[in-house]
Amino acid sequence: MFGEIFNPGVRGREAKVRSGPFGEAALHAYLVGTIHSAKAPLAASTALAVAITLAAYGVTGAGIFLAHALAHVFIGFGRFARLAVYQARERRGLTRRDIIACDRIFAFWSTLYALTLGLTCAGLTLRGAGSDTFALALSTYTGYTLAFVTRSAGRPWTLRLQIAAITAPQIYALVDGPIPNGDLYAGLALALVGAAMVLGRHGHARIVALFRADENNRRMARRDMLTGLMNRFALTQAFADAIAEAGGQPDAAVAIYLVDLDRFKAINDTFGHAMGDAVIVETGERLRQAAEGRAEVARMGGDEFMLIARGERFDGERIAGFAETILERLGAPFEIDGNLVMLAGSVGVAVYPQHGRDMAELMMHADCALYEAKREGRGRYRLFDESLRNRLAQERLLETELDEALREDGLEVWYQPIKCLRTGAVSGYEALARWRHPSRGLVPPDLFVRIAEQNGAIHRLGEIVLEKACREAATWDERVSISVNLSPQQFRRPKPLVETVKRALAVSGLKPSRLYLEITESLLLEDTPLTRQAVGELADHGVKFSLDDFGVGYSSLAYIQNYPFSKIKIDRKFVQNIHADHISSAIVASVCVLAARIQMIVVAEGVETQAQQRALVDLGVDLAQGYLYGRPAPMARAAAQRRLAV
Ligand code: C2E
Ligand code: CA
Ligand code: CA
Repeated sequence: MFGEIFNPGVRGREAKVRSGPFGEAALHAYLVGTIHSAKAPLAASTALAVAITLAAYGVTGAGIFLAHALAHVFIGFGRFARLAVYQARERRGLTRRDIIACDRIFAFWSTLYALTLGLTCAGLTLRGAGSDTFALALSTYTGYTLAFVTRSAGRPWTLRLQIAAITAPQIYALVDGPIPNGDLYAGLALALVGAAMVLGRHGHARIVALFRADENNRRMARRDMLTGLMNRFALTQAFADAIAEAGGQPDAAVAIYLVDLDRFKAINDTFGHAMGDAVIVETGERLRQAAEGRAEVARMGGDEFMLIARGERFDGERIAGFAETILERLGAPFEIDGNLVMLAGSVGVAVYPQHGRDMAELMMHADCALYEAKREGRGRYRLFDESLRNRLAQERLLETELDEALREDGLEVWYQPIKCLRTGAVSGYEALARWRHPSRGLVPPDLFVRIAEQNGAIHRLGEIVLEKACREAATWDERVSISVNLSPQQFRRPKPLVETVKRALAVSGLKPSRLYLEITESLLLEDTPLTRQAVGELADHGVKFSLDDFGVGYSSLAYIQNYPFSKIKIDRKFVQNIHADHISSAIVASVCVLAARIQMIVVAEGVETQAQQRALVDLGVDLAQGYLYGRPAPMARAAAQRRLAV
């Protein structure tokens, strides 16, 4: 009742703080942590209360005060015990339930404490009208009322209970006791209660404001600066909460949706970083809308996002529905710089507990599903399943076997000729890695190169291929070159790469200008100063570069300027229909024109038929590679093939 009269602003709901991980509970944790968890003031107030009751006993000789002193000792222990339990739980990590429970216990002990003080004051008032003990009662009452205001201001209900507990016995004693002007004192006491409530309200408002500011700071550290979504750190916590929540119920599931924008890199590079940022912000907003009320959204970094849908049952249809909603949102055109750009995304989904028991495992599986979705052709989603799990298991097995093969010279290098279309002579060979698996036979490089890229074995693999290829090429005619593929991953360690290349050349005695390093556009997209420096250093050493698989990626000619390419290899995809499809031939023709102007040699890949060859000759392509001239083979066989062909 006091609260309603004296605390008009702090009415139930209005006072609730809803922000933060647990809303009001977070405020209480904050209060317990900042105001009520200090042992020193707790000890001081207990000691003071015991001293006052003992003084009252000394003056009046009434046993009831001795009992009050004992009660204060008991309550002091109770409050200390509460604090100890709280601190122990805090070290272990507090749950919402812990915080609420500790808070209730806090309110219980502090109200009991106020009540005992109230009774002491009432006893003193009744016994000591007009004497020193009456003054003691009044000063104790006043002092503690105000002390409660400061210590319990953050908890309106606890404050109300405490003030009611200390006030009711005192008012009763003043009005009912043999005190001259008792009514006047009672009026003053009530005025003090009023002041205490007003002060308490201001204190509460201030504490809430402080808490909000503090929580805002913490939230900032948990937010992604660009999109305002959760960041990776906050996501880990949200995931832990979701699992804790689902853990209790037998068939509750938590689904994570890993979302990746297709073609984002190209947008970033074509339109600049500011536009790239705008696309990320817009993507975040679209995902937020798609997730409204059913999932939490976080940005993992770059163009990767993650959604957590908690408390759902495992339901394939529901998951498919949500994934499609996400894809639909991302499939709508983006407006960039006045242009409408189509971007689309891919989604990989994994579900707790079916697909993993912790964040790391689920992430790995969602990532695997995402990879699969991209492989199936972008703009799709894929739910992790047993077949993917089997594939992962197989890949892990291959991983160890590949490591073994790399250690024990199990890697072969095969060679495929590159022919000069004008003269028909072999201008060079491309070195292609082959792994002869003890039971699987020859494993295609597409598979094991990817595995090696994932686990870092690519550095060793690249080194082996370079060494073998250079050693082999050193035995050939001076005019024949050797092309070696480099993975973008190898440029992640630019210094050792440069050294490996130089060493392979030095050991074999091969002239650097006979070595072509084939790199793909995906390396150029990463375009870091370190990559450029490594390429530059090798170019200065005399090594040449080919741009591999031109046409399959982003095909931005802008990149070519920044790198010293001597050759450009047009992907098989364009060569396949070149004799029949005028678009393919127009593309190849324009590449030839451009290449001629910047003195680059054009190589056509995957030439299989005479018709393709004729079309390429007509377009003025310099070099060609493909089954028509020879398949990749161990060198002895490749050389024999060549002799047959000439
Ligand atoms: P790539 O660099 O584009 O190599 C050319 C691929 O096309 C080779 O596949 C070759 O066998 C195939 N090919 C050549 N002519 C024809 C043709 O007329 N028709 C068809 N259908 N295919 C043809 P391969 O050997 O399976 O290699 C696949 C990819 O694996 C390579 O593509 C390259 O990216 C990668 N790779 C191979 N060896 C290495 C290596 O030592 N290091 C790295 N980092 N990657 C390698
Ligand atoms: Ca190649
Ligand atoms: Ca190629």
